[in-house]
Amino acid sequence: MTETPHTVMAVDVYNDKIKHLLGPEDGQDGNQAWAGRIHFHRLNIKHDSRLEGLIKMSDLTINLAAICTPADYNTRPLDTIYSNFIDALPVVKYCSENGKRLIHFSTCEVYGKTIGSFLPKDHPLRQDPEFYVLKEDVSPCIFGPIEKQRWSYACAKQLIERLVYAEGAENGLEFTIVRPFNWIGPRMDFIPGIDGPSEGVPRVLACFSNNLLRGEPLKLVDGGQSQRTFVYIKDAIEAVLLMIENPSRANGHIFNVGNPNNEVTVKQLAELMIKVYSKVSDEPVLDVPMIDVSSKEFYGEGYDDSDKRIPDMTIINRQLGWNPKTSLSDLLESTLTYQHKTYAEAVKRATSKSVAS
Ligand code: UDP
Repeated sequence: MTETPHTVMAVDVYNDKIKHLLGPEDGQDGNQAWAGRIHFHRLNIKHDSRLEGLIKMSDLTINLAAICTPADYNTRPLDTIYSNFIDALPVVKYCSENGKRLIHFSTCEVYGKTIGSFLPKDHPLRQDPEFYVLKEDVSPCIFGPIEKQRWSYACAKQLIERLVYAEGAENGLEFTIVRPFNWIGPRMDFIPGIDGPSEGVPRVLACFSNNLLRGEPLKLVDGGQSQRTFVYIKDAIEAVLLMIENPSRANGHIFNVGNPNNEVTVKQLAELMIKVYSKVSDEPVLDVPMIDVSSKEFYGEGYDDSDKRIPDMTIINRQLGWNPKTSLSDLLESTLTYQHKTYAEAVKRATSKSVAS
C-alpha cells in the first residue's frame, strides 16, 4: 500500500489484526501513506448480500478466506470443507458473472504426499527430484484415505481450484491461483492465551514461538521428521504484487510461491528457532529444549502429514520473474525478534497471574 496507488476494500469477520492500517473513520490517525485507501467491511462472505456489490465495485478480488490450520482439518472437517469450498463459491460466481478478475488463494497441500514417499525408505529414486519436486502442471495430487480427515482441507482446496479453472475454461473467468508453501513471518497466526484461544493450536511457527516465549520444550510431532520449505512473508508479498500488477502474465496460471532453498525437517526448524531465540531474547537454552509427541496426542485421531514440499519455481519465474530472496536464518532472526518484542511481557504477565491463582 505504501508502494502502490491502489485502494483496498477489506472484507472480514474481524479487523483486529489490521486495525493499525485503518483510517479515521475506523478510529485511527489517518496519517499513513495509505490513509483513505483501506476501507474495512465487516461481513461474512458465506451469507451477505453486500458481497456481490463489493465485487462489482472492484477491478480485482483476492480471496484469502479459509480455515487453514492443520489442527482443524481432522477435528473440524465440516467447517474446513465448508469454508474452503462451499463458502468460496459465491466469490467465484460473482467474479465470473461480472467479468471481474480473481486471485484465489489455494495451498501447496493440494499436492498431498510426494510420489517418492511410497518408495521403500532407502530406495535410490527417493533422491531423484522427479519423485519429489512439486510442479503445477505435472505433479499429481496424492491424498490419504477418507478416515485420515487431515486431507479434508487439501481435497476441498483441490475442488475449488478445479472449479475456478473450469470457470476460466468454460466462461472466460480471468483467474490466478496461488499455492503458498509455508509462508512465515511476523504477525502469523496467534500466541495461544495471548491473542488467541488458550487451547488453540496454530501452525508450527507460532506453536514453537509460544513454547519459546513460555520457556517450555518445543513439541516435535512424530519426531519432527517431515520436511518443509519456508518462505519469508515479505518475499511472498512481492510475488502477489507482481500478480496484481501484471494481469496478462498472471491470468490463467497456477503459481507455486515458496522458497526451495529453505528446506529443513521440523526438528531442524526447532533447533534453529531455539538457537535464534536464545540470541534475540538473551535467555539460556533449556536443558531439554525439545520433546517428542505422537500426532494422535497432539492433533487427535485422523491426522496425517505431507512428507516433503519442494516447490518448482519454473512457472512463476518465467511468467513474473520472481525469485525468493530471504534465507531461513535471516527470516527467523527478524521474526523471532518481533515475537519477543511483541509477546514476551504479555506472556510473563499471563504466566505470573496463573501461578498466583
Ligand atoms: N508440528 C510440530 N510441532 C508443533 C506444530 C507442528 O512438530 O508444535 C509439525 C507438524 O506436524 C507438521 C509441521 O510441523 O509436520 C508443519 O506444521 P504446520 O501446522 O505449520 O502446517 P503444515 O505445513 O503441515 O501445513
